[in-house]
Amino acid sequence: MSLENRTCLVTGASKGIGRGIAEELGEHGADVAVNYRSSEEEAYEVVDYIEDAGGTAVPVQADVAKIDEVEGMYEEVHDAFGNIDVLVNNAGITVDKKFENMTREDWDRVMQVNLGGVFNCTKVCFEDIRQAHEGRLINISSVVGQQGNYGQANYATTKSGLFGFTRTIALELAHEGSTANCVAPGFVKTDMLADVPDRVKEGILERIPLDRFAEVEDIVSMVTFIAQKQSSYMTGQILGINGGMEW
Ligand code: NAP
Repeated sequence: MSLENRTCLVTGASKGIGRGIAEELGEHGADVAVNYRSSEEEAYEVVDYIEDAGGTAVPVQADVAKIDEVEGMYEEVHDAFGNIDVLVNNAGITVDKKFENMTREDWDRVMQVNLGGVFNCTKVCFEDIRQAHEGRLINISSVVGQQGNYGQANYATTKSGLFGFTRTIALELAHEGSTANCVAPGFVKTDMLADVPDRVKEGILERIPLDRFAEVEDIVSMVTFIAQKQSSYMTGQILGINGGMEW
Protein backbone atom coordinates (compact mmCIF):
# COMPACT_ATOMS: atom_id res chain seq x y z
CA MET A 1 0.00 0.00 0.00
CA SER A 2 1.62 3.27 -1.07
CA LEU A 3 0.59 6.87 -0.73
CA GLU A 4 3.77 8.31 -2.26
CA ASN A 5 3.21 11.67 -3.92
CA ARG A 6 -0.20 12.09 -2.35
CA THR A 7 -0.99 15.16 -0.26
CA CYS A 8 -3.49 14.49 2.53
CA LEU A 9 -5.18 17.00 4.84
CA VAL A 10 -6.58 15.45 8.02
CA THR A 11 -8.76 17.68 10.18
CA GLY A 12 -8.71 17.23 13.95
CA ALA A 13 -5.45 15.31 13.65
CA SER A 14 -3.94 16.21 17.02
CA LYS A 15 -5.79 13.49 18.94
CA GLY A 16 -7.78 10.28 18.75
CA ILE A 17 -8.90 8.90 15.40
CA GLY A 18 -7.55 11.84 13.37
CA ARG A 19 -4.13 11.45 14.94
CA GLY A 20 -4.07 7.76 14.09
CA ILE A 21 -5.13 8.51 10.51
CA ALA A 22 -2.49 11.21 10.01
CA GLU A 23 0.27 9.01 11.43
CA GLU A 24 -0.61 6.02 9.26
CA LEU A 25 -1.00 8.07 6.07
CA GLY A 26 2.45 9.54 6.78
CA GLU A 27 3.95 6.10 7.44
CA HIS A 28 2.69 5.05 4.00
CA GLY A 29 4.50 7.90 2.27
CA ALA A 30 1.89 10.66 2.01
CA ASP A 31 2.67 14.33 2.60
CA VAL A 32 0.38 15.03 5.54
CA ALA A 33 -1.12 18.30 6.76
CA VAL A 34 -1.96 17.85 10.44
CA ASN A 35 -4.84 20.17 11.36
CA TYR A 36 -5.60 21.10 14.95
CA ARG A 37 -7.64 23.79 16.66
CA SER A 38 -6.04 24.22 20.10
CA SER A 39 -3.85 21.16 20.83
CA GLU A 40 -0.65 22.57 19.33
CA GLU A 41 1.77 20.41 21.32
CA GLU A 42 -0.01 17.21 20.32
CA ALA A 43 -0.10 18.29 16.65
CA TYR A 44 3.66 18.83 16.68
CA GLU A 45 4.08 15.35 18.21
CA VAL A 46 2.15 13.91 15.26
CA VAL A 47 4.41 15.78 12.82
CA ASP A 48 7.51 14.48 14.65
CA TYR A 49 6.14 10.94 14.57
CA ILE A 50 5.62 11.10 10.80
CA GLU A 51 9.04 12.62 10.16
CA ASP A 52 10.70 9.98 12.38
CA ALA A 53 8.95 7.36 10.22
CA GLY A 54 10.56 8.92 7.14
CA GLY A 55 7.53 10.91 6.00
CA THR A 56 6.74 14.57 5.52
CA ALA A 57 4.21 16.57 7.52
CA VAL A 58 3.23 20.11 8.51
CA PRO A 59 1.05 21.28 11.41
CA VAL A 60 -1.78 23.62 10.36
CA GLN A 61 -3.90 25.45 12.91
CA ALA A 62 -7.51 26.28 12.05
CA ASP A 63 -10.93 26.06 13.63
CA VAL A 64 -12.79 24.21 10.88
CA ALA A 65 -15.98 26.05 11.81
CA LYS A 66 -14.42 29.35 10.64
CA ILE A 67 -14.18 29.74 6.88
CA ASP A 68 -11.47 32.44 7.01
CA GLU A 69 -9.23 30.15 9.10
CA VAL A 70 -9.92 27.24 6.77
CA GLU A 71 -8.99 29.35 3.73
CA GLY A 72 -5.74 30.31 5.48
CA MET A 73 -5.06 26.65 6.27
CA TYR A 74 -5.57 25.72 2.62
CA GLU A 75 -3.01 28.34 1.54
CA GLU A 76 -0.47 27.01 4.05
CA VAL A 77 -0.90 23.43 2.86
CA HIS A 78 -0.73 24.53 -0.75
CA ASP A 79 2.50 26.45 -0.13
CA ALA A 80 4.03 23.40 1.57
CA PHE A 81 2.86 20.57 -0.68
CA GLY A 82 0.85 21.89 -3.66
CA ASN A 83 -2.63 20.57 -4.47
CA ILE A 84 -4.51 18.46 -1.96
CA ASP A 85 -5.40 14.95 -3.20
CA VAL A 86 -7.09 13.57 -0.10
CA LEU A 87 -9.22 15.40 2.47
CA VAL A 88 -10.22 13.54 5.63
CA ASN A 89 -13.01 15.45 7.38
CA ASN A 90 -12.46 14.02 10.84
CA ALA A 91 -12.77 16.97 13.28
CA GLY A 92 -15.89 16.60 15.39
CA ILE A 93 -17.33 17.46 18.78
CA THR A 94 -20.17 16.42 21.06
CA VAL A 95 -22.34 18.55 23.33
CA ASP A 96 -24.56 15.85 24.84
CA LYS A 97 -27.87 16.58 26.55
CA LYS A 98 -31.34 15.13 26.56
CA PHE A 99 -33.33 17.02 23.94
CA GLU A 100 -35.54 18.64 26.58
CA ASN A 101 -32.41 20.28 28.06
CA MET A 102 -30.64 21.04 24.78
CA THR A 103 -30.38 24.74 23.99
CA ARG A 104 -30.26 26.29 20.57
CA GLU A 105 -26.64 27.18 21.36
CA ASP A 106 -25.79 23.48 22.03
CA TRP A 107 -27.42 22.59 18.73
CA ASP A 108 -25.69 25.33 16.72
CA ARG A 109 -22.19 24.63 18.08
CA VAL A 110 -22.29 20.99 17.00
CA MET A 111 -23.75 21.94 13.60
CA GLN A 112 -21.04 24.58 13.08
CA VAL A 113 -18.16 22.16 13.70
CA ASN A 114 -19.47 18.79 12.50
CA LEU A 115 -21.32 19.98 9.39
CA GLY A 116 -20.14 23.58 8.92
CA GLY A 117 -16.54 22.42 9.24
CA VAL A 118 -17.11 19.73 6.63
CA PHE A 119 -18.63 22.29 4.28
CA ASN A 120 -15.73 24.73 4.80
CA CYS A 121 -12.93 22.20 4.32
CA THR A 122 -14.59 20.48 1.37
CA LYS A 123 -15.30 23.86 -0.22
CA VAL A 124 -11.64 24.92 -0.23
CA CYS A 125 -10.32 21.49 -1.31
CA PHE A 126 -13.04 20.54 -3.81
CA GLU A 127 -11.32 21.79 -6.96
CA ASP A 128 -8.03 20.12 -6.03
CA ILE A 129 -9.76 16.80 -5.33
CA ARG A 130 -11.70 17.04 -8.62
CA GLN A 131 -8.60 17.86 -10.64
CA ALA A 132 -6.61 15.07 -8.98
CA HIS A 133 -8.88 12.60 -10.87
CA GLU A 134 -7.91 10.02 -8.26
CA GLY A 135 -8.77 12.44 -5.44
CA ARG A 136 -10.50 11.30 -2.27
CA LEU A 137 -12.99 12.91 0.08
CA ILE A 138 -13.33 10.84 3.25
CA ASN A 139 -15.90 11.92 5.84
CA ILE A 140 -15.86 10.49 9.35
CA SER A 141 -19.44 9.90 10.44
CA SER A 142 -20.65 7.57 13.21
CA VAL A 143 -22.91 4.61 13.94
CA VAL A 144 -24.84 7.22 15.94
CA GLY A 145 -25.85 8.80 12.62
CA GLN A 146 -27.38 5.43 11.66
CA GLN A 147 -29.01 4.49 14.98
CA GLY A 148 -29.57 7.77 16.81
CA ASN A 149 -28.38 7.88 20.41
CA TYR A 150 -29.96 9.01 23.66
CA GLY A 151 -28.74 12.53 24.54
CA GLN A 152 -27.18 13.16 21.14
CA ALA A 153 -29.91 14.68 18.94
CA ASN A 154 -27.49 17.37 17.71
CA TYR A 155 -24.55 15.03 17.13
CA ALA A 156 -26.63 12.26 15.51
CA THR A 157 -28.17 14.81 13.12
CA THR A 158 -24.74 15.97 11.97
CA LYS A 159 -23.50 12.43 11.48
CA SER A 160 -26.60 11.42 9.45
CA GLY A 161 -26.20 14.63 7.46
CA LEU A 162 -22.84 13.39 6.25
CA PHE A 163 -24.53 10.50 4.45
CA GLY A 164 -26.47 12.77 2.10
CA PHE A 165 -23.50 15.08 1.70
CA THR A 166 -21.12 12.23 0.85
CA ARG A 167 -23.45 10.61 -1.67
CA THR A 168 -24.09 13.94 -3.38
CA ILE A 169 -20.43 14.93 -3.61
CA ALA A 170 -19.69 11.40 -4.89
CA LEU A 171 -22.04 12.11 -7.81
CA GLU A 172 -20.51 15.51 -8.45
CA LEU A 173 -16.93 14.14 -8.46
CA ALA A 174 -17.60 10.92 -10.35
CA HIS A 175 -17.15 12.20 -13.90
CA GLU A 176 -13.57 13.20 -13.01
CA GLY A 177 -12.71 9.85 -11.40
CA SER A 178 -12.41 11.17 -7.85
CA THR A 179 -14.44 9.63 -5.03
CA ALA A 180 -16.28 10.52 -1.83
CA ASN A 181 -16.93 7.99 0.92
CA CYS A 182 -18.06 7.96 4.50
CA VAL A 183 -16.56 5.92 7.32
CA ALA A 184 -19.03 5.35 10.16
CA PRO A 185 -17.17 4.08 13.25
CA GLY A 186 -18.87 2.47 16.21
CA PHE A 187 -17.62 3.45 19.66
CA VAL A 188 -13.86 4.06 19.66
CA LYS A 189 -11.48 4.34 22.61
CA THR A 190 -10.62 8.08 22.46
CA ASP A 191 -11.18 11.13 24.66
CA MET A 192 -14.69 11.38 23.16
CA LEU A 193 -15.64 7.97 24.59
CA ALA A 194 -13.81 8.69 27.84
CA ASP A 195 -16.35 11.48 28.46
CA VAL A 196 -19.24 8.97 28.44
CA PRO A 197 -20.31 7.79 31.95
CA ASP A 198 -19.31 4.19 32.83
CA ARG A 199 -22.90 2.95 33.24
CA VAL A 200 -23.73 4.23 29.73
CA LYS A 201 -20.61 2.54 28.33
CA GLU A 202 -21.68 -0.77 29.91
CA GLY A 203 -25.04 -0.47 28.13
CA ILE A 204 -23.34 0.25 24.81
CA LEU A 205 -20.99 -2.71 25.18
CA GLU A 206 -23.96 -5.05 25.53
CA ARG A 207 -25.06 -3.99 22.02
CA ILE A 208 -21.68 -4.72 20.37
CA PRO A 209 -21.55 -8.32 19.06
CA LEU A 210 -17.73 -8.30 18.97
CA ASP A 211 -17.89 -7.41 22.68
CA ARG A 212 -15.30 -4.64 22.68
CA PHE A 213 -14.95 -0.98 21.83
CA ALA A 214 -12.95 -0.19 18.69
CA GLU A 215 -9.27 0.69 18.82
CA VAL A 216 -8.25 3.73 16.77
CA GLU A 217 -6.33 1.34 14.48
CA ASP A 218 -9.58 -0.44 13.53
CA ILE A 219 -10.80 2.79 11.91
CA VAL A 220 -7.47 3.99 10.56
CA SER A 221 -6.89 0.96 8.34
CA MET A 222 -10.14 1.59 6.42
CA VAL A 223 -9.30 5.27 5.88
CA THR A 224 -5.82 4.37 4.62
CA PHE A 225 -7.33 1.87 2.20
CA ILE A 226 -9.71 4.50 0.79
CA ALA A 227 -6.95 7.14 0.54
CA GLN A 228 -4.84 5.09 -1.84
CA LYS A 229 -5.44 5.01 -5.59
CA GLN A 230 -6.38 1.29 -5.57
CA SER A 231 -9.79 2.08 -4.02
CA SER A 232 -10.81 3.83 -7.26
CA TYR A 233 -14.10 1.95 -7.93
CA MET A 234 -15.63 2.59 -4.51
CA THR A 235 -17.62 5.80 -4.14
CA GLY A 236 -20.71 7.10 -2.33
CA GLN A 237 -20.41 4.35 0.29
CA ILE A 238 -21.08 4.38 4.01
CA LEU A 239 -18.65 1.95 5.60
CA GLY A 240 -19.70 0.84 9.06
CA ILE A 241 -16.85 -0.24 11.35
CA ASN A 242 -18.79 -0.93 14.49
CA GLY A 243 -18.14 -4.44 15.82
CA GLY A 244 -21.35 -5.70 14.21
CA MET A 245 -23.84 -3.24 15.74
CA GLU A 246 -27.23 -3.33 14.01
CA TRP A 247 -28.74 -0.27 12.40
P1 NAP B 1 -11.30 13.44 19.98
O1 NAP B 1 -10.38 12.43 20.55
O2 NAP B 1 -12.15 14.26 20.88
O3 NAP B 1 -10.46 14.40 19.03
C1 NAP B 1 -11.11 15.42 18.34
C2 NAP B 1 -10.14 16.11 17.44
O4 NAP B 1 -10.88 17.07 16.68
C3 NAP B 1 -9.04 16.84 18.18
O5 NAP B 1 -7.84 16.72 17.45
C4 NAP B 1 -9.53 18.30 18.15
O6 NAP B 1 -8.45 19.23 18.13
C5 NAP B 1 -10.26 18.34 16.84
N1 NAP B 1 -11.25 19.40 16.76
C6 NAP B 1 -12.36 19.57 17.50
N2 NAP B 1 -13.01 20.68 17.13
C7 NAP B 1 -12.28 21.22 16.13
C8 NAP B 1 -12.41 22.37 15.32
N3 NAP B 1 -13.45 23.21 15.48
N4 NAP B 1 -11.48 22.62 14.38
C9 NAP B 1 -10.42 21.80 14.20
N5 NAP B 1 -10.24 20.69 14.93
C10 NAP B 1 -11.15 20.41 15.89
O7 NAP B 1 -12.34 12.77 18.96
P2 NAP B 1 -12.32 11.34 18.23
O8 NAP B 1 -13.01 10.39 19.10
O9 NAP B 1 -10.98 11.05 17.72
O10 NAP B 1 -13.33 11.66 17.02
C11 NAP B 1 -12.88 11.99 15.74
C12 NAP B 1 -14.04 11.89 14.77
O11 NAP B 1 -14.59 10.58 14.82
C13 NAP B 1 -15.20 12.82 15.11
O12 NAP B 1 -15.77 13.34 13.93
C14 NAP B 1 -16.18 11.93 15.82
O13 NAP B 1 -17.49 12.39 15.70
C15 NAP B 1 -15.96 10.63 15.08
N6 NAP B 1 -16.35 9.44 15.82
C16 NAP B 1 -15.83 9.16 17.04
C17 NAP B 1 -16.24 8.02 17.72
C18 NAP B 1 -15.71 7.63 19.08
O14 NAP B 1 -16.29 6.76 19.73
N7 NAP B 1 -14.62 8.21 19.55
C19 NAP B 1 -17.20 7.19 17.14
C20 NAP B 1 -17.70 7.50 15.89
C21 NAP B 1 -17.28 8.64 15.24
P3 NAP B 1 -8.12 20.22 19.36
O15 NAP B 1 -7.87 19.35 20.56
O16 NAP B 1 -6.94 20.97 18.90
O17 NAP B 1 -9.36 21.07 19.53
